[in-house]
Parts: sequence; structure tokens; C-alpha cells
Amino acid sequence: MRLRNIPGSRETIAENHWCIPETEDCSGTWHNIFGNSQPIHIEIGMGKGKFIMALAKQNPHINYVGIEKYSSVLLRGLQKMEEEPLENIRFIRMDAEDICKMFSHEEVDRIYLNFSDPWPKDRHAKRRLTSHQFLALYQQILKKDGIIEFKTDNIGLFDFSLEEIKEAEWTLEAFTRDLHHDENMNRGNIMTEYEEKFSAKGNPICKLVASLPDAKLQ
Ligand code: SAM
Repeated sequence: MRLRNIPGSRETIAENHWCIPETEDCSGTWHNIFGNSQPIHIEIGMGKGKFIMALAKQNPHINYVGIEKYSSVLLRGLQKMEEEPLENIRFIRMDAEDICKMFSHEEVDRIYLNFSDPWPKDRHAKRRLTSHQFLALYQQILKKDGIIEFKTDNIGLFDFSLEEIKEAEWTLEAFTRDLHHDENMNRGNIMTEYEEKFSAKGNPICKLVASLPDAKLQ
């Protein structure tokens, strides 16, 4: 998602109560930032943040961190936060490739990836947020029983993600190629902005849940 650059969006974000500066070394300090020891769930590529804000509102016993690369996109989310403040959520404007600078070993309980950019050219495969290169980063920050949840309508990206998970020897806990018609996996589903847009066009939504190697969930 690229919105037209909004002049001053970086400065506005830097001064925002909910936004953590990307230059701050937060690794290992998230429980201090939130002032409690609740689990930490993050969404990478949150866009305007509809999904993560709905989760944060629904689950006050969990802390959420939304990560977004572009300040003009993140700004839209922060504007919503002004209207309905939530204390169990923070945002960072950063590229996911720097994720290990922001979270320490086993600090994160869950990672959401929703409608990540497909990067269709083979030579860009490592930029896909479900590539084995990114899985290796997630493995460093996730708790041993941590999971990733990934949704997309892009079948090529979904097939690629299943392959990468297999090759990285993560455990595929569940998957569907038609989430909205899968009673079990769709229970409690919160639609993202892109999910609303693509399902309205009739595209089936794919979803997978995967856990770290050797961490079969009960
Ligand atoms: N997750 C939202 C949804 O489902 O409605 C937005 C999906 S949009 C297609 C993908 C988002 O991921 C964009 O806002 C983009 O800027 C962000 N993004 C892509 N690559 C990223 C990266 N490496 N680090 C952080 N954000 C990224």
C-alpha cells in the first residue's frame, strides 16, 4: 500500500504518543513500554491498521505492536487512534528487515502477516515477508511456542509461503484456501482492509498458521 506522500508525516509520527521512534532500542524493553507483562503480538505491514486496532480493542489482555514501512500509511492509523485511544497498542515506522533490532530473543508471542506485498519477480523473492530469510528473523524473536498467521488472496504467494515453511522446517498447524467458507479457521476472523476489498471482488482468501520447528502446538 503506497499512499501519496503526506508532507510532514514523518515529523507528525515522531511526536505521536503511540509511535515508537525506529531509532529507539526497544529490544527487551516492551514490557516496560506497556507497563505490564502481557503477551506481545505484532503485525508486520499493518497498512492503515484496521485489523490490529480491532484486535487490540477486543483483547485488552494482549499488547499489540503494528509495524508499517511508510509514514504516510501509518499516519492514517494514528489518526484513528486519536479518535479511539487504546493503551495496549504501539506503532513503529520501519522496514521488517530490521525487526531483530526492535525485539529481543523470544520476546514475541505471535506475528500476523496480512496481504503482504507479493513481489512477483523471482529475483525479489527474498523480499516477500514469508520468505525463508524473513522466517529466520521471526524465529529469533518468537517464543518457542510462538506462531505466525498469514492471510492473502494471492495464490502464487500462498503456494510460495507453504513451500518456504516446509523448507524452513516450521510446522504447518493449519491452512485453508477459502477462509470465509472454512467454519473452523474463520471463527473470530477480523477482516483487514485488503481482505474486505478482495473478498468483495469474489477472491477466495487463503490463510495459514505455522509454528516454529519442533514446536507442535497442542
Ligand atoms: N495488512 C494490510 C491489509 O491487509 O489491509 C495492508 C496490506 S498492503 C498490501 C501491505 C502493507 O505492508 C503496505 O502498507 C506496505 O507498506 C507494508 N509493507 C510492505 N513491506 C514491508 C516491510 N518490509 N516492512 C514493513 N511494512 C511493509
